[in-house]
Amino acid sequence: MPPNLLRRPAFFWIATGGVVMLLAAAVSFVHQLREVQLQAEHNFSSRTALVQKFVTLNLDKLEVMSLLLRQHYHAPPAPGATALPATQPHGALWEIQLPLVLPGTDEGDAQRTAVVTGPMPQQPSPQQQREILAAAAMAPQIRSAFKYDPDVFRLYYLSAQKFLYLASRSGDEHVHFSEALYQRRYWSVAGPANNPARRTVLHGPYPDAGGLGMVVTFAQPVHDGDRFLGIVALDLGVDKLQRLTTVGRSAGSSLLIDASEGLVISAADMTPGQPVRAPLPDGTLRWQKDSDGTRWLHSQVAKDDLSLVHRLPRNTLYAAAAARSVDTWIIVLLSGGLFVLALRLRRAVSEVQWLTQIDPLTQVLNRRGLQQQSRALLALARRKRLAVALAIYDIDHFKKINDSYGHPIGDEVLKQLGKNLQAGLRKSDLFCRWGGEEFVLLMVLDVPENASVVAERMRQIAQQARIPTDGSGITLSAGVVVLADGESIDAAVTRADQHLYAAKAAGRNRIVFGGAN
Ligand code: GH3
Ligand code: MG
Ligand code: MG
Repeated sequence: MPPNLLRRPAFFWIATGGVVMLLAAAVSFVHQLREVQLQAEHNFSSRTALVQKFVTLNLDKLEVMSLLLRQHYHAPPAPGATALPATQPHGALWEIQLPLVLPGTDEGDAQRTAVVTGPMPQQPSPQQQREILAAAAMAPQIRSAFKYDPDVFRLYYLSAQKFLYLASRSGDEHVHFSEALYQRRYWSVAGPANNPARRTVLHGPYPDAGGLGMVVTFAQPVHDGDRFLGIVALDLGVDKLQRLTTVGRSAGSSLLIDASEGLVISAADMTPGQPVRAPLPDGTLRWQKDSDGTRWLHSQVAKDDLSLVHRLPRNTLYAAAAARSVDTWIIVLLSGGLFVLALRLRRAVSEVQWLTQIDPLTQVLNRRGLQQQSRALLALARRKRLAVALAIYDIDHFKKINDSYGHPIGDEVLKQLGKNLQAGLRKSDLFCRWGGEEFVLLMVLDVPENASVVAERMRQIAQQARIPTDGSGITLSAGVVVLADGESIDAAVTRADQHLYAAKAAGRNRIVFGGAN
C-alpha cells in the first residue's frame, strides 16, 4: 500500500473521530442540563418542606395568640374588677398595672406593668381597657415563643382602637397610643377593607424600626363575630427564611412570594417587594417555561398566601450544565488527541515499513519487499493449487553501458526498466529489483508451461527502455523456473540464476526455461 493511499482512511477516521467527539460533548451537555434541573428540583422540594414547616409553626403561634386574646376578651370580668389602674410613678411616664397571674409560668407573682410609650389619653376607654387586658393574656404564648424561637423578634396586637400592645424579647411590655401605626402596609392589607377572606398576610422584608435587622411580619386579623378588633402579628428575622430558601446548591434561586406576587425573600439579584412574574402554578411540581426561556418551579407553602418559586434563567441553566460538562469535555478532547496521535503513529509506522520494502532508485519492491509480499502470494497459490514461477532478469553488458555513457545514464536505464516492468505487471504477480541490474518476477500460473510465455513478454516490455542520450536500446537475459512445493524464493533464485547463466552463455537477449526442479 503506497503512503498516499493511507491518507484517505486517516482523514476518514479523523472526521469520524471528530463527529464522535462532538456527539459525546453534546450528549454530555444535554445530560447535564437534565442533571442541573433534577438537582434544582430536589433542592426545591427540600426548601419547600423546610419553609412550609417554618411558616406553619409561626402561623400556629399567631393562631394560639389570637385564640387566647379572644378567650379573654369574652371572659366575664373578675368580681370587683375596676378600670385598669394607670399611674405616673416616674414623672411623666405612664404605666398600666396588668393582672399578675401568668398561668403556666413561674413569674406569677412578679409585678407586671405595661409601660405607656405614646400620648396617654386621660384614662383608656372601657373598650381599650378590655382589649389591653385580653392582649395581656397572650403573655404565656409570647414568652414561650421568645424562649424557643430566636427568630421571633416581636409579638404584638394592633387594635382598631388606636393602640398597640407590644411584647419584646427582653420581657418588657408596652402599650403605645398612636395614629401613625395605621399607615403600615400590613395594617391595610390584613384589615377588613382589603382582606374580606380574613387571610393571614405576610409583609416585608423591611428594616426593623428598633434596629434588629431585616424582618418580615405575619399578621392575622382578629374578629369578635363580625366586628374587626385588630391584628395579632409576629416579626421574624429574615436570616432563617433566607437560609431555608438556599438549602443545597442549585442553579437559579428560590424566592418566597406573597399572594399579590410581591417578592418576600429572595436571592441577592432581586429587591424585596419587587413583583415576580412567575407562571401561575399548575398544581404539579413540574418546570414551566415562560416566554424568556426562564424555567420555574412553583409550590405553595401556606394556603392562598404564600408560595415558594424557583427561578432558573436559561443562561444560568446553560452555564451550570456547561460547567458540569467540562470534565467530560476534557476527557473527550484528550481521547480525541490520543486518537489522532495513534492514527499518525500508525501511518508513520506503515510508511516506514513500506519504505524499508522499496528500492529508492527504481521505486519498485526491493529484495526484502519481495520476501514480505510473496508470503500472501505463495499461500494463495498453494490454497488454489496454482503454479508459481520465478524469472530473474539481468541486463546484458550493463558494465559497458556504464562505461560508455556514465553511471547516471545507467541509473536512468534502471529506472526506466523498473517503470516498464511495473507497468506490464499482472495484478496477481510481484516483481522486485533483486540487486544491481537484476530484477526478479514472481508469477502465478494456471499452467506451469505458460511461465516462459509470460517471462518472455515481460522481457520484451523491459527492453523498451532506451538510453536517453542516443535512444539506443538494451537487451536482457533471463532464467525461469517453476517453484517446487515449499521451495523458498532464495532457493528458486539460485536455480533461476543457473539458467540465466545458460542464457548468457547461449548468446544473451533470451530466456532459458528450467521448468520445475
Ligand atoms: P552480462 O551481460 O554478463 O551481465 O554483463 P554485465 O556487464 O552486465 O556484467 P555484470 O552483470 O556482472 O555487471 C553488472 C554491472 O552493473 C556492474 C555495475 O557497474 C553495474 N551496476 C550495478 N548496480 C548499478 C546501479 O545501481 N547503477 C548503475 N549505473 N550501474 C550498476
Ligand atoms: Mg549482473
Ligand atoms: Mg548484466
